Amino acid sequence: MDNTSDHDPICMVLYINVALLIDVKRAYTPQPSWNKANINDIENYKSLLRLKLAEIKVPTAAICCSDYCCKNNDHFESINLYVSQLADACLQSAEKTIPFTRRRGERGCIPGWTEQIAPLRDKSMFWHRMWNDCGRPHNGIVADIMRRTRLQYHAAIRTVHRNENDIVNERFVSSIVNNSSRNFWYEARCMRRKCDSNTSSVVDGQTNAGKRDGSLGLVSDHFINACVELSVHTAMLFSTMLVHGFATEDMATCTLIPIPKGKNVNVTDSDNYRCITLSSVFGKIFDLVFLNKFYDYLCTSERQFGFKRHHSTVVVKMGPERTLHFFTK
Ligand SMILES: [Zn+2]
Repeated sequence: MDNTSDHDPICMVLYINVALLIDVKRAYTPQPSWNKANINDIENYKSLLRLKLAEIKVPTAAICCSDYCCKNNDHFESINLYVSQLADACLQSAEKTIPFTRRRGERGCIPGWTEQIAPLRDKSMFWHRMWNDCGRPHNGIVADIMRRTRLQYHAAIRTVHRNENDIVNERFVSSIVNNSSRNFWYEARCMRRKCDSNTSSVVDGQTNAGKRDGSLGLVSDHFINACVELSVHTAMLFSTMLVHGFATEDMATCTLIPIPKGKNVNVTDSDNYRCITLSSVFGKIFDLVFLNKFYDYLCTSERQFGFKRHHSTVVVKMGPERTLHFFTK
């Protein structure tokens, strides 16, 4: 055996059918924009969700079942159905009440349009109509003003396009200043298309906003902003899952997203990608509930730094670095 460590290796062979996707054009799917939602939107979301949850037929047979050796397939199927009904209720409620994202640069969505371009456009259109009414003359005061205002309008479009990033950044700063409920670092990461932080909570302030699953389309915000009834349904779901020793299809599904390691890398080489895994939001909440309840009983090695509260893998990296620095300074 070449392996002299005390770790047991796990070997796995995967046979996966990989199909080449010919259409590589990035599809844009509008998503609920929870940041844009105001208090009324959130209240409407809660009310509609409450109504939709009331319509769900709770699988009482599975929930009341206390047989730890239960092999009843109907119970398993009804638990799966229950999860998808809860997810649908959240998604449909958000669709009707929460504003949706729009593609950047979409018509009517150019940053700075309203402030910098729209007045010049209106002025230009006014003088264009005036010039039309005057019989479209080639020379004269009206023709000159029409051309001058049109030039100003087109120049403003070019300026706005050139300064698009600055305008977006300025708006971002002012929106943070004017709305303290928005989290700076969350917004900053969203702007870099890496949504992964906030401190809003479902379970003791630990569920991060903007956490997406890869399958159902749920985001942790659906739970953070939900009515109390959803917690009751979720608790019943988790209880029956524990009794049956069963994980739903949603919780057993992961979506791998390959991200190129840089802008100018060879994208045909799989070594130039790192993957992130999107997993079920229900699963994340279950993990948090479990960790909160049983944290004191879960012992880990003092040398484990990842997946552990108040620890970081950066600390491991720092150890050898400090040692090297000590002996080489
Ligand atoms: Zn059962």
